[in-house]
Amino acid sequence: MKLSQILFSQGFGTRRVCAGMVYAGLVQLDGRELDDPDEDLPTEGLVLTVEGQRWPYHAKALVLLHKPAGYECSRKPKHHPSVMTLLPAPLRQREVQPIGRLDEDTTGLLLLTDDGTLIHRLTSPKHHVPKVYEVGCKHPVDASQVERLLAGVVLDDDPAPVRAAACEAVSETHLRLTLTEGKYHQVKRMLAAVGNRVETLHRSSFGPLHIPGTLAAGQWCWIDGWSLTELG
Ligand code: URA
Repeated sequence: MKLSQILFSQGFGTRRVCAGMVYAGLVQLDGRELDDPDEDLPTEGLVLTVEGQRWPYHAKALVLLHKPAGYECSRKPKHHPSVMTLLPAPLRQREVQPIGRLDEDTTGLLLLTDDGTLIHRLTSPKHHVPKVYEVGCKHPVDASQVERLLAGVVLDDDPAPVRAAACEAVSETHLRLTLTEGKYHQVKRMLAAVGNRVETLHRSSFGPLHIPGTLAAGQWCWIDGWSLTELG
């Protein structure tokens, strides 16, 4: 693929802007400054350096954001900044979207992609991708609450009970809950249904994916080599 087309596909701007970046000496490959926007490059395994930043080519982007509290998942947030502001301009330009949402005050693992098929698949009720939540509870958790969360509780918008796929009390007020659905405020409503209350909420995993230990809140990383089957 031509270099300017590659840069365009990665969200760096129009073909013209991308050609301008090349002429300005802002694009490198293996330490070599690229100077021809029409140069043909194989995209497989391609890692460019653009304005000093390492930029691996991805036909479709899939990134993991360690979401901090105080950010909304909507592209048009109402009260707090959008999580999109934590991503670099090329990813915003590609219009990546969150795969499901986390509340403004929830922290943890948020996936974003520009792959519509993946969003549809991973958010469809038919796909039971397990998501693990670390829940800080207001009141001590007792065995009957754990049992009820596992057996199923009825929420106000649906007579069918929702149950936790797994639930363990890690300490007196810390619950580890695995859900395979993604209903609105599901953890908070489930905890309220058993007479407790969520004080803090953190998503630690999504299917096989965990937050890398080195990724601080507010930082993001690429998810490479993923496949739909692996992700659920
Ligand atoms: N359940 C909630 O209540 N909030 C979240 O952000 C995620 C799951």
